[in-house]
Amino acid sequence: MAFSVDDIRKDFPALQQRLEGGKLVYFDNAASAQKPLCVIEKAADFYRRDYSNIHRSAHELSRRATVAFEEARKCVSKHFNAPKNFTAVFTRGATEGLNIVARCYGEKFLKKGDEIILSQMEHHANIVPWQLCAMRTGAEIKAAKILPNGELDMGHLQSLVSPRTKIISIAHASNVLGTINDVQKISEIAKKAGAVFCVDAAQSSPHFLGDISEIGCDFFACSAHKCFGPTGEGALIANTEILNEMDVWQGGGDMIESVSWEKTTFRQAPEKFEAGTPNIAGAVAFARALQYMDSLDIPAARAHEAELLKRATELLEKIEGLRILGNAKNKVPLISFAVKNIHHNDISTMLDANGIAVRSGHHCAEPLMNALGVSGSCRASFAFYNTLEEVEFFAKKLRSAVNLLS
Ligand code: PLP
Repeated sequence: MAFSVDDIRKDFPALQQRLEGGKLVYFDNAASAQKPLCVIEKAADFYRRDYSNIHRSAHELSRRATVAFEEARKCVSKHFNAPKNFTAVFTRGATEGLNIVARCYGEKFLKKGDEIILSQMEHHANIVPWQLCAMRTGAEIKAAKILPNGELDMGHLQSLVSPRTKIISIAHASNVLGTINDVQKISEIAKKAGAVFCVDAAQSSPHFLGDISEIGCDFFACSAHKCFGPTGEGALIANTEILNEMDVWQGGGDMIESVSWEKTTFRQAPEKFEAGTPNIAGAVAFARALQYMDSLDIPAARAHEAELLKRATELLEKIEGLRILGNAKNKVPLISFAVKNIHHNDISTMLDANGIAVRSGHHCAEPLMNALGVSGSCRASFAFYNTLEEVEFFAKKLRSAVNLLS
């Protein structure tokens, strides 16, 4: 299918609306993306026709729902090109996926003196679960530094590796700097060290990145809502053998093999991590969102996103007092910025008055904010459905806001 941003925008009902401030310019995609009609309809149709609980009942609707859920699982693995020996566990999102790795792998296999390598640019979702793991096991966390341009200091990361390194867990792309990390290289470093490698793919997956076979990681966590799918849904895609060696996550129905007062045994992955009734329609709609992404002209969509980023960078660089946080060579299409002597919330409020949605705050990356020497920033994050006109309108309104507030 040829890439036409005008046609693509027609697929997204939310983008058609006008707000009080004017036409909606949605630049908060890194927080959560809008949904195409096919995803909304897929969830609605599933509830209208095929909905029932899964895996349990011997009736037609339960069979249909089970097939749809298990097909969705295959679709998620296929989209991310997971190797044959990998399985997709459905989660509530990247946060839950990372918590499962830290709790069920980390707490089972780590001991006092072992080391976990993260980076300075991690989201809290890839810091706090490891802090809890370190607290409970006595393992130690080391954070690889970033270079002044926002790239990961690979030399520093390499220097942190030791025989005690048991886990490396790194974002594929930073939600603040936009930096795309060389996860293939990090995977090689982890393999050499005999450590497992976990990729936080929350920010890379919406931008057509995340080929698990190519990366060579052991764990890969992503969120559906950032990939144009529903909220409360995501996947942890991981090596099945490792998943089967891990502790279980929650206890309850569907994750057990047999239960008695004396002894309970558990199912294999993925079910052992999916206690209780999952977000069945969420999984089905997530798969539909990934199919939608796959139906686009991906090289053209990526080129369009790169053009949005390039134009926004050019325009923002011209605004006096504005500092762009992160100028890595390889970036996902987002720009975080701070303006001298102006609070980020004041800027985002003025942009909102013009219908422009951006994020402001610490972006759940307080250690990174400290390293950058800022209390917070504004972030404009783009998706393939955004336009150059929107970027230009945003830059114009931002310039006016800065002039007014300074
Ligand atoms: N990791 C990164 C890099 C993120 O940007 C986010 C969310 O913004 C997460 C993890 C957590 O994702 P979720 O809130 O969907 O679980």
